[in-house]
Amino acid sequence: MDKFTYVAMPTRVVFGAGAVAQLAAEVQRLGAKRALLISTPGRAHMVRAIARGLQVAGIFDQAVMHTPIKAVEAARDMASSVEADCCIAIGGGSTIGFGKAIALSSSLPVVVVPTTYSGSEMTTIWGISEGGAKKTGRDPKVLPKAVIYDPQLTLDLPAGVSAASGMNAIAHCCEALYAHDGNPLVSLIAEEGIRALAAALPIIAQAPRDLEARTSALYGSWLAGLSISTTGNALHHKLCHVLGGFGLPHAETHSIVLPHAMAYNAAAAPEAMRRIARALGIKAGTETAPTGLWQLEQRLGLPMKLADIGMKEADLERAARIAVQAPYPNPRKVEYEGVLELLHNAYEGRKP
Ligand code: NAD
Repeated sequence: MDKFTYVAMPTRVVFGAGAVAQLAAEVQRLGAKRALLISTPGRAHMVRAIARGLQVAGIFDQAVMHTPIKAVEAARDMASSVEADCCIAIGGGSTIGFGKAIALSSSLPVVVVPTTYSGSEMTTIWGISEGGAKKTGRDPKVLPKAVIYDPQLTLDLPAGVSAASGMNAIAHCCEALYAHDGNPLVSLIAEEGIRALAAALPIIAQAPRDLEARTSALYGSWLAGLSISTTGNALHHKLCHVLGGFGLPHAETHSIVLPHAMAYNAAAAPEAMRRIARALGIKAGTETAPTGLWQLEQRLGLPMKLADIGMKEADLERAARIAVQAPYPNPRKVEYEGVLELLHNAYEGRKP
């Protein structure tokens, strides 16, 4: 076995249908008495219902995608004006991003109730958009102190959002399997994450209120978040970050790029591909990890072409140039021609 370093992140996890009933107890464990709740405008009613029985100092219900600095400043101002002693973020990666942004400047403890499969709640990664670019970093201060996974809260997550978000989570697992700083424990977690999500997502696409499938998908997304909490991202995440700068939606971009990024890396990461294929339930000699992911996405009814989610063909070369500047460590050397070909394939939605 190769040498490795393993670091565990100290987040407390409470999981299960109805687990959100323990939110007040989790806040109490932190000794907090003045919680600031965070949500998007669309989820505000759900958050208010969950907050009954909590000691709430204020509600910031203006969370939006990509944590723009102006909105972050408004949230930070509110946290200090109501003298909050903890933040509770209830929602997807966008909402969680606001909790992290407040923690980054204040060290306030954050409790998260995730309602998508982004996995953000398990990581120390923060992101804030300013002047058309998203700055990201890692800081232990932003890691949630407690995470409550309650699949009942995900029953109304629309099928399309669930599928794209679930593929975002599978992408975390795939890159963790060949991360330059990976380790055997993370690989076990990542493979199990793919297995749980790949089994649950097709059921959710047909029956979004199936609690068993929702439970399995949320379990998979926890594992996905865990798998990137201590490993570095590679070409796939780099490309999606670059494409986000062109205004493309986060989860759908991950979903479309994933099979093509895996095809780019396949020959350089055979063990990761074998494990991805096994987790997808692919029989030997039929499909490969990249084609299996592509077929899963087709089955989920996801958009398959960057062209269909707002990418302009004329921008592909610029995106490839940005992606090869300061690349993340990657199993296969990151080179302009290959990356441009990958982007063309993703733009046109070809089978990898
Ligand atoms: P999102 O948070 O924007 O949510 C997607 C949509 O789902 C929104 O319209 C939201 O209102 C809706 N929604 C959420 N929960 C719902 C529910 N229970 N019922 C009905 N609708 C619901 O999307 P996302 O994909 O979760 O997060 C994307 C953001 O997260 C991006 O900004 C990305 O950069 C960030 N992210 C960060 C990390 C990290 O480690 N820091 C990891 C992954 C993603």
